[in-house]
Amino acid sequence: MKKNWVIAIHGGAENQSREDIGEAKEAAYRQGLDNALMAGWHVLEAGGSAVDAVEAAVRSMENNQLFNAGRGGSLAKDESIEFDASIMDGKNMQAGAVSGVKHVKHPITLAKTIMERSKHVLLTSVGAEEFAREQELEMKGDDYFKTEEKIKSLKKAKKKEKDELLKDTVGAVALDMDGNLAAATSTGGLENQYPGRVGDSPIIGSGTYANNEVVAVSCTGDGEGIMRANVAHEVYALMKYKNLSLKEAAKEAMEVYKDRIEGDRNFIAMDPEGNVEFSFETSLMFRACKRNNDPTYLAIWRDEDGNWEKE
Ligand code: ASP
Repeated sequence: MKKNWVIAIHGGAENQSREDIGEAKEAAYRQGLDNALMAGWHVLEAGGSAVDAVEAAVRSMENNQLFNAGRGGSLAKDESIEFDASIMDGKNMQAGAVSGVKHVKHPITLAKTIMERSKHVLLTSVGAEEFAREQELEMKGDDYFKTEEKIKSLKKAKKKEKDELLKDTVGAVALDMDGNLAAATSTGGLENQYPGRVGDSPIIGSGTYANNEVVAVSCTGDGEGIMRANVAHEVYALMKYKNLSLKEAAKEAMEVYKDRIEGDRNFIAMDPEGNVEFSFETSLMFRACKRNNDPTYLAIWRDEDGNWEKE
């Protein structure tokens, strides 16, 4: 049987128009997505693991100021920046997660290090930073994360001068040549959020889930709603217990308890055959995918040509 290797990524989902974003910024987003996709794809192409591939893709977006994760993370009410991230290895169902760290350059690598080198799944704030230092992960001062632009944007958000709060998340799912699935998610949370607020991104089963037999999922959107709907695990459960296909499960997971749970839920998901779903209810999702040596699929807008319909 031919070995497949596939990676899909997202850089968040929003309700913005082409005019809001502008041509130059749109082009920069496309470049950023391509860089991240290829960072993960090269890991897979060289025979690397799905876990290493999703980490590489997310690290690339954490380096890019355009995305709300790592360097680009948005400011909380008190101008602090707190990061949440998680990763799950579908091979052994090991997981690592981190929340409320302020000085770790790559929260996703901290999540992976927690998974691989500690007996815990989730570490938060001071303890998580202590562990990061012990493990000699790269730390950064406030000046690396806090920019004039972000401070201005926070001020506007406080005065309610803008319709859309800066939010978003980045994530990746991958299938490696050995048939292993993995998922990773990283975020700066919501702009103007209460310090200490934690969303779905570091919660295994809500923002991230992976199991080789069934699916890998990474979410973005309203963390409070995604947590209550347990979206990533819901996709898994619909496939596992209802025997739905990836496409059917993704569709249903978007709707489950929508009458009682508000907020936009968006996610990317991949099954063990390397089929991919980009599910979103916003006007855009920054997204990309590459299977084996096939051409890259990269899109932002809902109405963009070339939907990912290869399966
Ligand atoms: N889900 C993220 C959070 O609630 C934000 C986002 O994806 O837009 O922290």
